[in-house]
Amino acid sequence: MLPTAAVDAARRARVPALEHRPAGAGRPALEIHRSPRRTRRAEAHARDGVIVVRLPAGMPTADEERAIGQLVRRLTGAKRAADLGGDEGLERRAAILADRYLHGARPTSVRWSGRMGRRWGSCTPSDGTIRISRDVASMPGFVRDYVLLHELAHLRVADHSPAFHALLAAYPDRDRARGYLEGFAAGRLAAATPELPPQDVVDPAAPPQDDQDGEARRSGAARRG
Ligand SMILES: [Zn+2]
Repeated sequence: MLPTAAVDAARRARVPALEHRPAGAGRPALEIHRSPRRTRRAEAHARDGVIVVRLPAGMPTADEERAIGQLVRRLTGAKRAADLGGDEGLERRAAILADRYLHGARPTSVRWSGRMGRRWGSCTPSDGTIRISRDVASMPGFVRDYVLLHELAHLRVADHSPAFHALLAAYPDRDRARGYLEGFAAGRLAAATPELPPQDVVDPAAPPQDDQDGEARRSGAARRG
């Protein structure tokens, strides 16, 4: 195996300063700039339907792909949440679901969040607040509804006891939504550890630890999921 520094130097020579990736698989087109002058972290913004990503040159491929994935998810999630009416749209949807399945439970606030890491949603029953990850905004409606309903149900039952699951039993797409979320989490884990050409295997980043079910584990007051 080559020493890391030599491999990195060879990689820098190969990796283009500007790379275009066409749209595909639900992802918008990318324009990736790599600059040796950039020392700050990776950044991205949307421009004319293309996501422009700026990276410091010389990042290991796995780190690049992880950073690109996060930035793209953040931007597409923010846009999708806005398309769905933002926090007000989420609040309206919560009211509809709560009236239909939970006898009108109401959170004190329900908001989209871009800072939930790998969690889909969180509920803090002590103050009645709910946060839904913007990652969920890009998912199908029956999955969005399930995540929102799950958090709303925690306003009634804080834990995942049988009483909690009984609240969700009436939601017809529960099992399908859970399957979707499990598949999504598995795909995200796989995407974070792309297969690299053999000469690039110098920075074997460990796959990130993922929650079993992607649910919330906040401070003591917050309940899981
Ligand atoms: Zn939960």
